[in-house]
Amino acid sequence: MPFLIDCPNCGRRSPYEFKFGGECKRAPDPGADVKAWCDYLYLYENMSGVQDEWWYHTMGCRSWLKIRRNTVTHEIIEE
Ligand SMILES: [Zn+2]
Repeated sequence: MPFLIDCPNCGRRSPYEFKFGGECKRAPDPGADVKAWCDYLYLYENMSGVQDEWWYHTMGCRSWLKIRRNTVTHEIIEE
């Protein structure tokens, strides 16, 4: 098991219980053009290193949570 995700409702759980929701990024302004919204929704930086991510606990409490993870080592960084 590569790492555990600490769900505030369920405790430390396997990442296989979650669905990856993508990296956290700032949404475009409400009046932004279609390209800006498509880029926001469908393009990912897919970076190597530390990033903030959304995870959905599909096999648990069905809540979204935000974690900071090193994408190379899978280390979860506590805030
Ligand atoms: Zn949970």
